[in-house]
Amino acid sequence: TRIYVPRDAAALAVGADAVGQALQRECATRGLAVELVRNGSRGLLWLETLVEVETAQGRVAYGPVQAADVPGLLDAGMLQGQPHALCHGLTEQMPYLARQERLTFARVGIIDPLSLRDYEAQGGWQGLRAAAAMAPEAIVQQVLDSGLRGRGGAAFPAGIKWKTVAAAESAGTGPQKYIACNADEGDSGTFADRLLMEGDPFCLIEGMAIASLAVGATQGYIYVRSEYPHAIAVLNEAIARASAAGWLGGNVAGSGKAFYLQVRKGAGSYVCGEETAMLESIEGKRGIVRAKPPLPAIEGLFGKPTVINNVITLATVPIILARGAAFYQGYGMGRSRGTLPFQLAGNIAQGGLVEKAFGLTLRELVQDFGGGTASGRPVKAIQVGGPLGSYVAPEDWDDPLDYEAYAAKGNVVGHGGLVVHDDSADMAQLARYAMEFCAIESCGKCTPCRIGSTRGIEVIDRITRQGGSEHAANVALLESLCDTMQHGSLCAMGGMTPYPVRSALQHYPQDFGIEPVQTM
Ligand code: SF4
Repeated sequence: TRIYVPRDAAALAVGADAVGQALQRECATRGLAVELVRNGSRGLLWLETLVEVETAQGRVAYGPVQAADVPGLLDAGMLQGQPHALCHGLTEQMPYLARQERLTFARVGIIDPLSLRDYEAQGGWQGLRAAAAMAPEAIVQQVLDSGLRGRGGAAFPAGIKWKTVAAAESAGTGPQKYIACNADEGDSGTFADRLLMEGDPFCLIEGMAIASLAVGATQGYIYVRSEYPHAIAVLNEAIARASAAGWLGGNVAGSGKAFYLQVRKGAGSYVCGEETAMLESIEGKRGIVRAKPPLPAIEGLFGKPTVINNVITLATVPIILARGAAFYQGYGMGRSRGTLPFQLAGNIAQGGLVEKAFGLTLRELVQDFGGGTASGRPVKAIQVGGPLGSYVAPEDWDDPLDYEAYAAKGNVVGHGGLVVHDDSADMAQLARYAMEFCAIESCGKCTPCRIGSTRGIEVIDRITRQGGSEHAANVALLESLCDTMQHGSLCAMGGMTPYPVRSALQHYPQDFGIEPVQTM
């Protein structure tokens, strides 16, 4: 019997190794022959450790399993997929998974992440094989036609970036080009990059190899934050295995073209998630934001044309090349094509990863998938797009998630991370936290961010502590400060910190001692 126990960091954090060991020990004692597979996480994080047993009907899920549960589960007939209080039936039929549209995450949680055989059996390398037989311009055109936009937050069309890098050689910048994958997933409440890297590393490698063929790059770097040691270990091993199998190296997928790949470990700075600071860091320098222009697509890593995309963007490329641009373009709404792996975090009953086409609503995500708050209290606020994202107004929770629709209301979809708060949250303190976060993480290069964030903390403190005749003046001062930061900062760190602050002030004025200005 084959049993799956995730080795994803989220599962390890709640005892997955002990569960695996208990299963092996207990089965050996009972004389039961089992094959233990360490898969990635299915993304149903509240059920970790989620153990799956392969049966004739399909994989049956049990969770959350602790090591101490193992004897009882075996007594109940877990190896035959028998019922138990922790049994959820067939994994694929669990509503949380069955309602998703998993394209980028199609294999995550299903395969052994480091098994080349598993990867190929589940459709792996089809995109790279197709790309190896295409002209570079045709690869770029597929990505353009798919409508894929940068999933790291900025949502810039990936194909346009690739086209710029592909054409950069003729602008006289030399033959060397790079692919840099941004895996510095520093936003609180986001974990899609990590789940993908740990659960399906060959998918990211395949996407980067396709990008290299498209633009003529021979060297790639995956810049992973140091807080992801498991992802780093899995990627290094996956790169070694892919290289040995001929998917990387001097003759990528038989194309006759070279592409070499390395992992670079970050050093714990949030601002290194900003693309130019990341380039500085890869070059071995302190991670400080570069002024643009020049665009990294023209003068990027070591001054050479560089494709910079985040993990999810690059890991989505293989399915586009394998299934065709029209297939991927068929998902989504408006100019937001395809799917986004949303991440449900914070005070939420069923936290985890939900990959769905654009167009669903926050309410669907938080209530239908997330099951409301973990505390059982009403949802008060939902921050979308990381610590620099807005608190979306409650009256907009039924709006379809779409880059343009969100931007029109001053919100951001970003990396698709949602952090939920119940009605005990103090929004003025959360606004203060946004300023504090900016003050701590600012690289210090520009004044509005470096100084403004510290002044912002002070002004919010005055608003919440003093009240009285100064109150209105301090609120106006906070607005003015936010305006300066938003428009005067060099990068998104200072430029977007006002988003959570202003939206908290606007939608939850009572928490700042201001009478509600609107009713719902
Ligand atoms: Fe650095 Fe902040 Fe300016 Fe960005 S906005 S360059 S993080 S000081």
